[in-house]
Amino acid sequence: MDSIRIDELTWVDVKEKIENGYKTVIFGVGSTEQHGPSLPEKTDALQADQFANILALELGNALQAPTISVGYSEYHLNFPGTISLRKSTLSAIIEDYIDSLARHGFENIIVFISHGGNEEPVKDILPKMCEKYPDKKIFYYYTQEILPAIREMGQKYRLTLGEIGSHAGDMEASIMLHYAPDLVKKDRFVEGYTKVMTPRVQKKSRAEGFNAVSESGVVGDQRKASAEKGKNYIDNFKSIVVNYVKRKLSE
Ligand SMILES: [Zn+2]
Repeated sequence: MDSIRIDELTWVDVKEKIENGYKTVIFGVGSTEQHGPSLPEKTDALQADQFANILALELGNALQAPTISVGYSEYHLNFPGTISLRKSTLSAIIEDYIDSLARHGFENIIVFISHGGNEEPVKDILPKMCEKYPDKKIFYYYTQEILPAIREMGQKYRLTLGEIGSHAGDMEASIMLHYAPDLVKKDRFVEGYTKVMTPRVQKKSRAEGFNAVSESGVVGDQRKASAEKGKNYIDNFKSIVVNYVKRKLSE
């Protein structure tokens, strides 16, 4: 079987596939930012790429455009290695992606976001794109409807939501152990900030930098992370994401 990744195909293949019913295209928007002392900076980029790939395969008749591996991460810049686009830059990149893909005849364009900072820049530009292409379905996915699945994982593995964590906690550490164990420095796993990220704390992390909330850069507890659990997280999220997207496509 041919790859479903546009950048691994020739233009002839892409043209043929679109003519043969590949009317949906998906791309991930991740980040290159610190994920604590143990996880690589590409953690969100890798997740965006993998989830977009899973989603495209599950939907069928869908292609995957190249993942945008750098996002809006200004509040992580106090940690070495983080690269941040301005929000306006990221919005402009999304606009250019959609303009390009729309031109080739895709009818559905889905943006898969794996990093919270990217939601606002994507949200800012999508209404304009929907207005420009009224015959196309253009929307994004970012964590909609997965909270019950996260709670279930917490019950199964006896973890609080704070330990599962919103940034480099049990969930992301486990997912990275599953996908890229060679990039994970397990001996540096730490307990980070494990209290609930209230809007006030979130605001503080954005205004003063993430290190003002967690010195290690971790929100969550990585110490019980495992590859097996990582696969479990992904399996549990998969059907939720696929069903959500299918529903949006049939609206
Ligand atoms: Zn992350």
